[in-house]
Amino acid sequence: MKVLNLQCAHGHGFEGWFASQDAFESQLAGGLVECPMCGDTTIVKLLTAPRLNLGSPRPPEAEAQPVRLPAAASNDTPDARWMRAVREVMARTEDVGERFVDEARKMHYGEAEERGIRGRATPEQAQSLAEEGIPVFALPLPAALKETLQ
Ligand SMILES: [Zn+2]
Repeated sequence: MKVLNLQCAHGHGFEGWFASQDAFESQLAGGLVECPMCGDTTIVKLLTAPRLNLGSPRPPEAEAQPVRLPAAASNDTPDARWMRAVREVMARTEDVGERFVDEARKMHYGEAEERGIRGRATPEQAQSLAEEGIPVFALPLPAALKETLQ
């Protein structure tokens, strides 16, 4: 699996999980890679070293919450600040918790209504989604915001 650090034209950074570099490029070309903050599909890949610690336990502060958004535009402004944007994602997505993987898969195969969801997934689960071509993004949550949400 490829974990890529991506950024939209508005400067929102996020991680995308893909089965391979080819999968990323074909999803990007198809307009399927979109910013979880604002829905922008002008995505660039940031140059970073490959992540080697995937699958090993990470400290809670580094925990990312996977999100999957429907292809919907938003009226977010370029100067929207990070915290506001994160709150917007929270408002636009349904927290499905541990059911994230099941729900993302059901939507992908048309068995559930297409909508924005967020929840929890292990790196192994994220990998299997990526291998099925299901776009999933990890949104690093500011620690302060997590406290207010949970
Ligand atoms: Zn964005």
